[in-house]
Amino acid sequence: MDIIVLQPETSEEDIRHILKKLESKGLKANVSQGTERTIIGVIGDTSKVTEDEEDAIRAMAGVENIVRILKPYKLASRDFKKENTEITVKGIVIGGKKIQVIAGPCAVENRTILTGIAEKVKESGAAFLRGGAYKPRTSPYSFQGLGLEGLKYLAEASEKTGLPVVTEIMDPRDIDGIVEYADIIQIGARNMQNFRLLLEVGSVNKPVLLKRGLSATIKEWLMSAEYIMSRGNHNVMLCERGIRTFETATRNTLDLSAVPLLKQLTHLPVVVDPSHGVGKRDLVAPMAKAAVAAGADALIIEVHTNPEEAFSDGEQSLRPDYFAKLMQELKAVAQAVGREI
Ligand code: PEP
Ligand code: MN
Repeated sequence: MDIIVLQPETSEEDIRHILKKLESKGLKANVSQGTERTIIGVIGDTSKVTEDEEDAIRAMAGVENIVRILKPYKLASRDFKKENTEITVKGIVIGGKKIQVIAGPCAVENRTILTGIAEKVKESGAAFLRGGAYKPRTSPYSFQGLGLEGLKYLAEASEKTGLPVVTEIMDPRDIDGIVEYADIIQIGARNMQNFRLLLEVGSVNKPVLLKRGLSATIKEWLMSAEYIMSRGNHNVMLCERGIRTFETATRNTLDLSAVPLLKQLTHLPVVVDPSHGVGKRDLVAPMAKAAVAAGADALIIEVHTNPEEAFSDGEQSLRPDYFAKLMQELKAVAQAVGREI
């Protein structure tokens, strides 16, 4: 809240009330009397004014409009930090020149399958292993994940391949296990606005991959990042994974315009998940390439050695040979936009 536009012919008394209100919030004001309109420029740290307080001022007599110049998210904004945030995990930098690829199955199914997939994606140049031990399934009757046992398999596969692990948290009660076994904590689309969960991961010393909610605006998404950062954890990366639109031909609509837009609005690294973005194996590679062209810092891609038998998301999972080919093809795209992969 930085500029208050007053209604024409607002009384001196109404103006005094507004100035008093600002003063009570520790803010100073600069009243500028134009020929048509009077405008109040608010001076001070207006980011401390909550949206509710702003609404209360908007409701005061004489106020026509309030314009915010500072964004409601502060720590996440480019205004707050000009240079890109680089997140280093076991020596691997996310948000630098090199584009990192996170690959693996949707869910951890068992030790052998997971290790098999991990070895394959490592061979092809992936930098991280993904896999869900706690799965957010639409149906309570679908496979819900192996839980703690799954986390242990992830840690074993990580040990074998050297790939750090990305896995999803769904419940604050699981945080200790996840912190122990994983290297990056994923917040899934369905939990993007689970504010208690966001605060929980904001209090631990592990990078967070924050997926965009199913129908979240960019602003809501950045506010969720702000929740995490407000607790002290500034290692947050934003992952575009498609939003829900009227279109049903694809699982979601991958909003690639979010990538360059986020690059303007925030210093945080941007990840793209073409797998959940489209939901169809054949469309994953083209969208992965487009994501790199659009400026993504990392990709997260579902890979399975036997997609037909996968417990979840087999339809969108790439076979290892296809993933290997995609990794090669991405090189030229990365180079064309001044990056490496
Ligand atoms: C996943 O990564 O397997 C997943 C469930 O993703 P999302 O939260 O984007 O649906
Ligand atoms: Mn999945």
